[in-house]
Amino acid sequence: MAIVSFNKTVLHNLFSKPKTRKAEKEYPEGTRGHVENDMDLCILCGLCSIKCPTHAITVDKAEKTWSIRPMSCIQCRCCVDNCPKKSLSMGLRFQEPGSEKVTKTFKMSEKAIAAQEALMKAAKEKAAAAAAAKAAQAAQAGGAAPAKPAAPAQAPKQEAPVENKE
Ligand code: SF4
Ligand code: SF4
Repeated sequence: MAIVSFNKTVLHNLFSKPKTRKAEKEYPEGTRGHVENDMDLCILCGLCSIKCPTHAITVDKAEKTWSIRPMSCIQCRCCVDNCPKKSLSMGLRFQEPGSEKVTKTFKMSEKAIAAQEALMKAAKEKAAAAAAAKAAQAAQAGGAAPAKPAAPAQAPKQEAPVENKE
């Protein structure tokens, strides 16, 4: 009798839907997600790091890296709302849960580095052009300045009277 019941259970389990749900691949609607950074847009200005109330974000300009400690993040979105380049967003993709406090570090992309270098070069050229224009203007102003008063003309020398010895 027990074998019949067991076989029934096996057959039922073989042909019925699983009782468990598959892991969600996206967070359900209404959740805040997690912070993601598009390193093609980030200019490492550091504003997100200043605004973060839990100091979860670190920006290293020398190393050109942006880091976040996900376990310190409270998903307040303050960094996302203050990013001037709109490179931050609240990602809704499912992430594997972790048990360790890790720091995730991302390097500034080659594209962003090239864009930043081009901007700096353009700014330097503009500053140099402005300085040259200012110097030229100053030189021109110096040339047009009123000439120094000329020294008073000396009276013509009177010729000594010629003596007639006749
Ligand atoms: S993510 Fe935005 S606010 Fe943060 S360093 Fe990059 S550009 Fe600046
Ligand atoms: S969402 Fe809030 S807590 Fe999380 S990194 Fe951004 S500012 Fe910090």
